[in-house]
Amino acid sequence: MTIQRILIVSGTHGNEINPIWAVNQFNSKENTNKKGIEYKFIIGNPIAYQKGCRYIDADLNRSFNENNNYHQQKKSIYEIDRANFLVDQFGINGSQPCQIAIDLHTTTANMGTSIVMYGRRFKDFCLAALLQNKFGLPIYLHEKDQAQTGFLVEAWPCGLVIEVGAVAQNFYDPKIINRFLIIISSLREEIDKLKNNLIELPKELVVYVHQGSIDYPRDKKGDIDGLIHPKRINQDWKMIKKGDPLFIDRQGIIHKYDGDQEIWPVFIGEVAYKEKKIAMSYTKKELICCKNEWVKEFESL
Ligand SMILES: [Zn+2]
Repeated sequence: MTIQRILIVSGTHGNEINPIWAVNQFNSKENTNKKGIEYKFIIGNPIAYQKGCRYIDADLNRSFNENNNYHQQKKSIYEIDRANFLVDQFGINGSQPCQIAIDLHTTTANMGTSIVMYGRRFKDFCLAALLQNKFGLPIYLHEKDQAQTGFLVEAWPCGLVIEVGAVAQNFYDPKIINRFLIIISSLREEIDKLKNNLIELPKELVVYVHQGSIDYPRDKKGDIDGLIHPKRINQDWKMIKKGDPLFIDRQGIIHKYDGDQEIWPVFIGEVAYKEKKIAMSYTKKELICCKNEWVKEFESL
């Protein structure tokens, strides 16, 4: 096992402040190095954090596309410069190389604590399985969505998002901070146990696979004309089927889910996704058998 350094990013979205607090609370000298693994802490988007907004020019967590050639851009985009800086500093070929990136986020949706992974990299599955095994966290697997790419953790050989909610933007909540602290403080022990064969991965992983997103009902001008239905609000991770209510519009008309497949909505009413025209995303549940190859690849990091 050659995992020497884990990058812990908080404040990738500047108005998600609880992870920044958690990291500051955790980050004392004796905590920097444990089990032979060093944590590197960085605020993803420090200027947006100072201003209390999600981003300055563009969403940092969509700015890590490999083909982002910022020299060709007429105007510099702060987040693309910042993404390049982070990779130059802490990427696997950077000046302080980190093998794993953990990106800490909060959501205004009632998701509890969850893991978000992008694509099906074996190393990510291994790390997700470790965390699901320890904490029973649900896993949201984001893949095949051309409208949303360039996520931070994809720029590292292995990486996951930890997403905790519900909490308002720019609002400190000790319960939310505590959940981040628990994960940060036990992550290296779990990796160490795996290395020393003290734990095995579970036989199966439960994964919620991204299928698409649903916009709010809109009027002719394109303005939102409907609320998330009272039976749907805060019901993240709960299965719905054809005929279940999604929205209620100004006329009192209930907009129902019309698909044939059973789906599991997530990020219901996430405030930050309004600008992306997303009222909620939806997933299908998949059981994935854990493979020995996941551990082998993880150990070869
Ligand atoms: Zn975020």
